[in-house]
Amino acid sequence: MQRTAQTVLISGASIAGPALALWLHRHGFAPTVVERAPELRTGGYKVDIRGTAIEVCRRMGILDEVRARSTDMRGGSYVDDAGRTIGELPADVFGGRVEEDDEIMRGELARILYDRTREDVEYVFGDSIAALDEDADGVTVTFESGTVRRFDLVVGADGLHSNTRRLAFGPEERYKRHLGAYISIFTAPNHLGLDRWETYHALPGKLTCVYSSSGETDAKNLFIFSSPEELPHDHRDVAAQKRLLADTFAGDGWEIPRLLGHAAEADDFYLDSMSIVEMDSWSRGRVVLLGDAAHCSSPASGQGTGLALIGAYVLAGELARAGGDHTVAFARYERHMRPGVEQNQKMAERFVKEMTVDSKWKIALRMFMVRTLPKTPWKNLIAKKIRDGIQAAAHAVPLVDHTAPARPTVAA
Ligand SMILES: Cc1cc2nc3c(=O)[nH]c(=O)nc-3n(C[C@H](O)[C@H](O)[C@H](O)COP(=O)(O)OP(=O)(O)OC[C@H]3O[C@@H](n4cnc5c(N)ncnc54)[C@H](O)[C@@H]3O)c2cc1C
Repeated sequence: MQRTAQTVLISGASIAGPALALWLHRHGFAPTVVERAPELRTGGYKVDIRGTAIEVCRRMGILDEVRARSTDMRGGSYVDDAGRTIGELPADVFGGRVEEDDEIMRGELARILYDRTREDVEYVFGDSIAALDEDADGVTVTFESGTVRRFDLVVGADGLHSNTRRLAFGPEERYKRHLGAYISIFTAPNHLGLDRWETYHALPGKLTCVYSSSGETDAKNLFIFSSPEELPHDHRDVAAQKRLLADTFAGDGWEIPRLLGHAAEADDFYLDSMSIVEMDSWSRGRVVLLGDAAHCSSPASGQGTGLALIGAYVLAGELARAGGDHTVAFARYERHMRPGVEQNQKMAERFVKEMTVDSKWKIALRMFMVRTLPKTPWKNLIAKKIRDGIQAAAHAVPLVDHTAPARPTVAA
């Protein structure tokens, strides 16, 4: 006699959650995704799909769609306080990109994954896990809405501030390490008339960028600022976050006053600390963490989305390979992912410092490089060095074949 498929509750419907749901459904599990937001969240920055993550997208059958929605960025320039161009860098130099790399808006990718899974997977929006009560056979989950349900397994794919992590492993402060900077991003009118182009403005400890990608009529405004100490900000109090951004950049030049004006009106305003999550173990009993919840590598790595996609593929594959034996599967998943994750987290720490250059002379040196680099004979050498580092990190998690495993039905 065969039992019904294992039920898996996934908390979080951004990238990691729906990607895992897609693979679990394919492997014969019955996933349910719960998302705190009342509907799919579509905000966010452009995210890179590189290296191993490209192959995962191909195996998911979404690569063509991802490519059709590519940001198609041509490059970027640095400007001074008066808006004069200091230097221009093409996308391959700027982003360490190779030809097959992809870049897509985070919200677009979330939409593709959701659309691919919504028919086969149960989605519950506007709810959240309030309590987890595990026993030998499963987990009793109490939701904030008051609903109580049983699941075989629970996966926390609920991001940097994971609720599942807090419930199963303890307070966030134990695992989150602030890297010394904050990032904010929001949509605003494209008043600079940018076309697949990003414009940067740097001050000591601060970086501002405006860009508009393919098919976008609006622009994205991005602010990064250093703050060695973590600020006592509430990651859900958007009004307070907008005030924090306005105060930090008050009195700065270029277009910054105008950009801050748009921040006040933005309805997809995002601000968070650049942090990494470091844990000794990503699972406890029947609960396992995935994506940023397990090992956030911060936006500075440019790899958070890729690692979330790869992790979803590996976790689902290992669950199928182990016939649903979560103890074996969780251990294999973690063993497989961890070295690559740590490599990317190290890279993020380096990149945060480069994004928030802290003195005037270092900025002057950077601008000198920006102005002269495209004209130097070592241009290609330097571009290759940047590219090689980024590509090594993007390929740091090797891929095994999890595309055709047995269905995890268990004898009763
Ligand atoms: C709105 C938004 C904007 C972002 N913008 C950027 C950006 O500009 N640059 C960048 O590098 N990264 C950004 N990120 C993070 C980026 O998406 C992740 O680093 C990466 O894609 C890994 O994804 P993830 O699915 O693990 O986590 P996340 O993308 O962070 O997704 C977590 C999901 O869990 C949901 N959630 C949170 N708490 C609960 C709860 N209690 N119950 C149920 N669901 C919950 C969230 O609403 C979200 O949908 C953003 C994330 C979000 C949600």
